[in-house]
Amino acid sequence: MWQVPTRVLMGPGPSDVHPRVLKALSTPLVGHLDPAFLALMNEVRDLLKQVFGTKNELTLAMSGTGSAGMETVFVNLIEPGDRVVIGVNGLFGQRMADVASRCGAEVIPVTAPWGEPIAPEAVEKALKQADGPVKAVAVVHAETSTGVWQPLADIGRLAHAHGALFIVDAVTSLGGVPVEVDKNGIDACYSGTQKCLSVPPGLAPVTFSPRAQEAIRTRKTKIQSWYFDLSMIQQYWGEERFYHHTAPISMIYALREGLQVLVDEGLENVYRRHLELGRRLQAALEDMGLVLHVAEAYRLPQLTTVRVPEGVDEAAIRRRLLEEFGIEIGGGLGELKGKVWRVGLMGYSCQMKNVVLFTSALRQLLAEVR
Ligand SMILES: *Cc1c(COP(=O)(O)O)cnc(C)c1O
Repeated sequence: MWQVPTRVLMGPGPSDVHPRVLKALSTPLVGHLDPAFLALMNEVRDLLKQVFGTKNELTLAMSGTGSAGMETVFVNLIEPGDRVVIGVNGLFGQRMADVASRCGAEVIPVTAPWGEPIAPEAVEKALKQADGPVKAVAVVHAETSTGVWQPLADIGRLAHAHGALFIVDAVTSLGGVPVEVDKNGIDACYSGTQKCLSVPPGLAPVTFSPRAQEAIRTRKTKIQSWYFDLSMIQQYWGEERFYHHTAPISMIYALREGLQVLVDEGLENVYRRHLELGRRLQAALEDMGLVLHVAEAYRLPQLTTVRVPEGVDEAAIRRRLLEEFGIEIGGGLGELKGKVWRVGLMGYSCQMKNVVLFTSALRQLLAEVR
């Protein structure tokens, strides 16, 4: 067997997988149409509803990583010619704009610098200045490329006031900070398993409000993707249990366990753990004289961007953290490349011992090079 090196995953994902999830992954297979497996899928749907904070019946896990969730939302909701307002303040906002434009959307970007949130006023202006009705407004809840925690409620209200659907990327937020799909008026939301759910990459939880379902039902054009067509996927997850594609059975076991771990700890306790340890990490970095990239009011607890001090080789420190301490963190992306480190405290990786390990390792390495 391949010998895996021991790592502590403190990057922007994947995060460390919970031991209960690792165990679930070794469960023997049953068929993907076995009544026992179908019952397990119902359980997964009920757990997803709890964690998303929704009553939406159309809640399930798509086969594929977080980007498959993004693709699912856009290919099902957006038709050629639809106007979509998209908040672009980091890599994943850019990706949403790319995906939407491939669906034939007229993308109206609302931008902010990488490290700042999207202002509701800017969204309102875009909605008012659009040449006609806007089909959807989309933002990223937790911008993993920058560390920004995007407030949702005001943008959701504006979207609805203009008759638009509200789409939210919750890939890094689900299981780390409250997403509250129903309370925030979110119509379509997608996530991934390898960030705060402590499950390996491979599934994309999604949820759609009755309004979003209606938008899918009343489409004028056929959904261009066969694999992500929800009207067919629903017949497998729903009452009909029609074969569409073979469900990734072991991953569904893993997701069930990851969600049950969250519910067993209690969602409020999970959010408190992320908030407290994230704030502790951030305070420790500031104590070391380092500068955090995002203003305090919009700082995610589960993903911290810290600026690389002048004269320090960003990649060299990251390599030494990995080689000498077994700690994985991330570098900057896009316009933040070479300028920040991205430190994750997601899911099972979000533990006090990891905060202490990382901050002492970084302090030692910086002392050597400065
Ligand atoms: C990781 C991530 C994605 C993409 O997920 P993959 O699992 O890499 O496909 C999308 N949006 C955000 C905010 C992410 O952090």
